[in-house]
Amino acid sequence: MSNIKEQGLKYNLYSWSAQKKINPMVVSKAEGIYFWDEDGKKYFDMSAQLVNSNLGHGHPKLIQAIKDQAEKMAFMGPGYSVDVRSEAAQKIVELSGLEGAKVFFTNAGAEANENAIKFAKAYTGKWKIFSAYRSYHGATFGASALTGEPRRFIAEPGVPGFIKFDGPYAYRAPKACNFKSEEEVTEFYLELLENQVLYEGPDQIAAIFFETVVGSNGILIPPKGYYEGVRALCDKHNIVLVFDEVMAGFYRTGSAFAFHQFGVKPDLVTFAKGSTCGYVPLGGVILSEKIAATFDEKKMFNGLTYSAHPMGCATAIATIDAYKEEKIAENVAAQGKVLAEILDEFEKKHACVGQVRHIGLFSCVELVKSKETREAIVPFNNDKEGLMPKIVGMLKVEGFSTYSHENMVLVCPPLNITEAELREAMAILDKVLDSVDNMIK
Ligand code: PLP
Repeated sequence: MSNIKEQGLKYNLYSWSAQKKINPMVVSKAEGIYFWDEDGKKYFDMSAQLVNSNLGHGHPKLIQAIKDQAEKMAFMGPGYSVDVRSEAAQKIVELSGLEGAKVFFTNAGAEANENAIKFAKAYTGKWKIFSAYRSYHGATFGASALTGEPRRFIAEPGVPGFIKFDGPYAYRAPKACNFKSEEEVTEFYLELLENQVLYEGPDQIAAIFFETVVGSNGILIPPKGYYEGVRALCDKHNIVLVFDEVMAGFYRTGSAFAFHQFGVKPDLVTFAKGSTCGYVPLGGVILSEKIAATFDEKKMFNGLTYSAHPMGCATAIATIDAYKEEKIAENVAAQGKVLAEILDEFEKKHACVGQVRHIGLFSCVELVKSKETREAIVPFNNDKEGLMPKIVGMLKVEGFSTYSHENMVLVCPPLNITEAELREAMAILDKVLDSVDNMIK
């Protein structure tokens, strides 16, 4: 074992893992959409790390912004006005299209959601918080309570007042639904949510959180009209609508924010990952004009030593400029089309592929034992044999790096990937899916 790995295993704790069962790769170099292990083997970064490395590795503009800011002013407390702090907030508000909005900066996604919970409570004076099963909102205590999937269990019984509902997922809807159209899907899930809101008492519900497009739980794209219905429900009962765009934001789905594609305006938006592409940590909450105005006279009880850190803000400015200069929206549209065609073909061709879902360069392959029964290739939260890590390992051997969640393999490359690179990488996935087809025979 290399010294780096040995030292790492001795002194580091690696996320979400039994420490004796992991074998963390030693990465020696990262450039563009690739990284290399210590033996010089090259990998396509097909998850853009944790779906945050939207501009890939070693981007000169981002690196320069970090160098310049470190020399000029590495830190200044959050109570001061600093050029990059003001400019980053303005750029993010402009990108959101939410006129009159303001930004409260955090260090990352979980903290953004923690603060969004507090904003919703302060604005409404109410206390219950709704979020979807099959959602991930972060690993701090409040964000874990928001999270709808098993990664929340460790924080339970958790914080009182967090209610879970079933968001739209037609592929795994109860069999009796037997949907004939997208309209029926929308109608069913809206009715389900509306009933639950009524049962829980609308006068107690402060907010409903959504991942605008659900990310790590399988790229769940809401059906047409769903968010319009949710918006109306929230307006009717004075409930704050929060879109968690930590993963979906910053062009991942093709638009600057995913909600731009669904015809509704949220009250709060949380963001992180793509705002700096991971070059330095940053996250935040965009507050609509009406929510921000809550704190015009009333004291805002939110604060962090590193809120609006100048290094993060300088990086966010450079990142947003790079998205525009490099026509990332256009590239996501073009490569998203290529990716969609390839994935749709996989769904037809491979016995193990139950469904593929994609929007922009945000996609996943849902693996099943049988297309007919839709039985997942591994039972929910119970992959005892480690089949999914095995499949991810098979991809890695071929130079395709990504991660899986439940029975889903995520395909979310850096947004500046070229068509040739995308096709080359997807040929690897095709080959590995052939092997998975054989495994389920
Ligand atoms: N929200 C979503 C949708 C996420 O995907 C994540 C992380 O993957 C988070 C929140 C938490 O962000 P962080 O890990 O930066 O705290």
